[in-house]
Amino acid sequence: MLIFFGPPGAGKGTQARAVSTELGIPHISTGDILRESARKETGLGLAAKARMDKGDLVSDDVMCRIVGERLSEPDCRNGAILDGFPRTLGQAHFLDQLLEQRESERALLLNLQLEQTQVIKRLAGRRVCSKCGEIYNVYLNPPRQDEICDKDGSQLFQRPDDNEEAIRQRLLAYERETVPLIDYYRSKNALHDINGNGEPEAITERLLNFLKRT
Ligand code: AMP
Repeated sequence: MLIFFGPPGAGKGTQARAVSTELGIPHISTGDILRESARKETGLGLAAKARMDKGDLVSDDVMCRIVGERLSEPDCRNGAILDGFPRTLGQAHFLDQLLEQRESERALLLNLQLEQTQVIKRLAGRRVCSKCGEIYNVYLNPPRQDEICDKDGSQLFQRPDDNEEAIRQRLLAYERETVPLIDYYRSKNALHDINGNGEPEAITERLLNFLKRT
C-alpha cells in the first residue's frame, strides 16, 4: 500500500494520478471521494463540504469508514495508492489494523517535501478539470488554453478550499494533526522522503525510480 504524503499542495494528487496510471494500481483520493459526495449532495457529502470549505479535517470515523469500504473492493486486492489518507494518528492506526488482516501487505509512506512558499503558490494557482480531474497550475503548469482542460476541453475550476483563509487553516491542520505521522512511519521504517520540487514529470520519474528499487 503506497501512501502519498505531504502538505496540501505538495503534489500528492498529481503524482498519485501519474503513478497510478504508470503502475496500474488504483488511486484513492479521499478528498476526491468527499468532493464527489458533496456534488451528489448526499448527507455525508454536505456535512463534509462544510468542513472542507473551511479547511478543517473531516472526522476519523467518517474517513475510516470511507477508506475501509473502498479498500475492500476487488480492484484493491493487490494494493492501492492512498492520497490524503491517513491524515491523523487515529487514521494511521486504523490502516495498520486493516493491513494486518490482509496478507503480506505493508504501508510505505512517500513523503513529498516542499517549502511553504512553493506550497502556497501551488495551492493558489491550482485549477482542476471539472470532468476528468486533471490538475493544472496557472503559474507552474498552465493549460494550453486558459481555463480549459488540454485532455477533454472541459472547463477548469478552482477548488473552494484553495482560498487564502482555507489554505491557512489547512496548513494549520496539517502541522497539528498530520505531521506527527512522519515520526510514526519513520519509526516503523516505512517512510521515504522524496524531493517534491521541480516539474511534475521529473517528480514522477523520481518516484518511479525509487519504487523500482524497492
Ligand atoms: P485533499 O483533496 O486531500 O486536499 O482534501 C480536501 C479536504 O478533504 C481536506 O482539507 C479535508 O477537509 C478533507 N479530507 C480529505 N481527506 C481527509 C482525511 N483523511 N481526514 C480528514 N479530512 C480529510
